[in-house]
Amino acid sequence: MSFRERLYRFMQGRYGKDDLSNFCVWTGLALYVISLFFFRYPITQYIIYLFSTAFLAISIFRTLSKNHLKRQIENQRYLRLKNKLSAFFRLQKDKFKERKTHAFRRCPHCKAVMRLPRRRGKHGVNCPACRRHFKVFIWFGKK
Ligand SMILES: [Zn+2]
Repeated sequence: MSFRERLYRFMQGRYGKDDLSNFCVWTGLALYVISLFFFRYPITQYIIYLFSTAFLAISIFRTLSKNHLKRQIENQRYLRLKNKLSAFFRLQKDKFKERKTHAFRRCPHCKAVMRLPRRRGKHGVNCPACRRHFKVFIWFGKK
């Protein structure tokens, strides 16, 4: 049996790569590189190195795992968290970029974020997501 055949047999029924495993590989490699900069602090270096190894081990374990359902659930959780985080940072970026022209307010009913023209004072707003009416107060901006 050739090496390729043996590898193919070995990988049969195994889960393989996904986003979470990719994340673990890159985090593990990044931590390994970071650990190299801590050569003056051997204990810190060792701890970072251990984390690096753990991330790489998790990635290998997940790739070779035969429990597909469990791995898929983990991956979905990871993707949900990643989407939440990137939405949060995108919002912070927009808030900062448009801080002079727009105010961002959360709907008290459905928690959707609204982007409103920045006009000082109290305004009545209809939420575009849940259609309910509520009042917002904008502290500074053009009158
Ligand atoms: Zn709403």
